[in-house]
Amino acid sequence: MSVAREQLVVMKFGGTSVEDAKAMGRTAAIVGGRRKKGLETIVVVSAMAKVTDQLLAAAAAAGRGDKAGAMAISARLRNRHTDTATELLDAARFAALEPAIHMEFDALDDLLRGIAAVGELTARTSDLVVSFGERLSSRMVAAAFDQHGLSGVHVDARTCIITDANYGKAVPQGGAIEAKLAEFVLPLIEVGKTPVMGGFIGSTVEGITTTLGRGGSDYTAALVGGGLHAGAIEIWTDVNGIMTTDPRIVPEALRVKSISFEEAAELAYFGAKVLHPATILPAVQKSIPVWVLNSRNAENEGTKITAVAPHCRSPFKCIAAKKKLTIIDIVASRMLMSHGYLKAVFDVLDRYKCVVDMVSTSEVSISLTVDSNERLPEIVEELSKIADVKMEGNKALICMVGEDIRGHNGIAGQVFSAVSHVNVRMISQGASEINMSFMIDEEDVEEAVRSLHRNFFADPDAAIFDVEARVAAGTTA
Ligand code: ADP
Ligand code: ASP
Ligand code: MG
Repeated sequence: MSVAREQLVVMKFGGTSVEDAKAMGRTAAIVGGRRKKGLETIVVVSAMAKVTDQLLAAAAAAGRGDKAGAMAISARLRNRHTDTATELLDAARFAALEPAIHMEFDALDDLLRGIAAVGELTARTSDLVVSFGERLSSRMVAAAFDQHGLSGVHVDARTCIITDANYGKAVPQGGAIEAKLAEFVLPLIEVGKTPVMGGFIGSTVEGITTTLGRGGSDYTAALVGGGLHAGAIEIWTDVNGIMTTDPRIVPEALRVKSISFEEAAELAYFGAKVLHPATILPAVQKSIPVWVLNSRNAENEGTKITAVAPHCRSPFKCIAAKKKLTIIDIVASRMLMSHGYLKAVFDVLDRYKCVVDMVSTSEVSISLTVDSNERLPEIVEELSKIADVKMEGNKALICMVGEDIRGHNGIAGQVFSAVSHVNVRMISQGASEINMSFMIDEEDVEEAVRSLHRNFFADPDAAIFDVEARVAAGTTA
């Protein structure tokens, strides 16, 4: 049987959507609903909520030589997974799965003991430790889907998601992934199965486990959707869709009904955790629509991400905030500010694989913002060889995104008067003209975002934003 690609939907469920047996049950019901509509389903799951953080803590403890601490975390995780499986599955299916869960945890324990004995944690070993989260959750969800008549079948994502060896942030190899999906996943779909894969994890061609970076399960879903030329990619999470800002900061944030690929990519990159920044690209390349949906409120229509942004009366669609940034000020003498100088600065950053978010220059100085990381002191030391360097941590970037910024005059004035009580450091309007960003102190983020939201979403365009929800809740921006 051949599969009509437009009937194929890749559904990704995040950590909270598989956090316990109840959540896994809701996930099964959502997938069942899609199959009843005649769609073919492929499911990508994250580790159960918080498991990735705990595995990283276990790895760090082992790396410090704290074997007891690492083993205690692993024991708690073993209990959580077996308890969840007991509640989730009937006796026969539990009996079939339980040995596999113990086998995974025995392997994890061996690994943690090994790390503790050596007292050193490499990026490669850290990826192996953290991979257990998705390996376990995907096995459990596949068994639950089988029980719910969804023909669930577990596929180890590491057989399909081929990456380079850049541990912790591995780069997927598109062609190899497409070939592996055609070999291992497509035949399952052709016989009506629902393949269930762990997100986030992959392997090198030599079979060494890698990960795609934190939040990377969204990326896996997009790679699988792109590789199989699926008709749609659905990102199921714990909010109604992409909201006008993080609802944890502004509880009255509104759902954005539709947003362009470009806007969504900016937002994701500049801190909106709801979507992994790399998710959009494989979808754009194949023109596959992406939906962001709420697994706790499956009836809600969510956010549709499409090639072209529908016109919006308001200049902005969303406000994102990215914390834990550092500003590096590089001041050179006039003599040094010459041909080749910028290259020398960026060569240093390149050597440390340091990603720069924003740059501003004057005649003798350059200010850069970078993600805070443990190698910053070394970077500053190297840069100090060519200029005077100062570093300021605990900074945050606020990014206002919208394709209609260009159609509105005087927007910058409105933005900065909304945050006039906050100290603004660097300002940039992206070349794409769909974002306006500035740096502030981390401690001012909540206040600035609330103030901007009040100013720009007081009278939202009902064609783009879910205004009905605000009316129903009786709230205002
Ligand atoms: P998952 O585990 O499903 O991948 P994440 O925690 O990675 O979920 O992402 C969902 C969270 O992203 C939401 O709970 C919300 O707090 C946060 N978030 C930040 N910015 C936004 C935004 N603009 N719209 C929606 N959610 C956002
Ligand atoms: N479990 C991984 C993380 O917490 C990947 C993901 O959830 O997307 O980062
Ligand atoms: Mg996520």
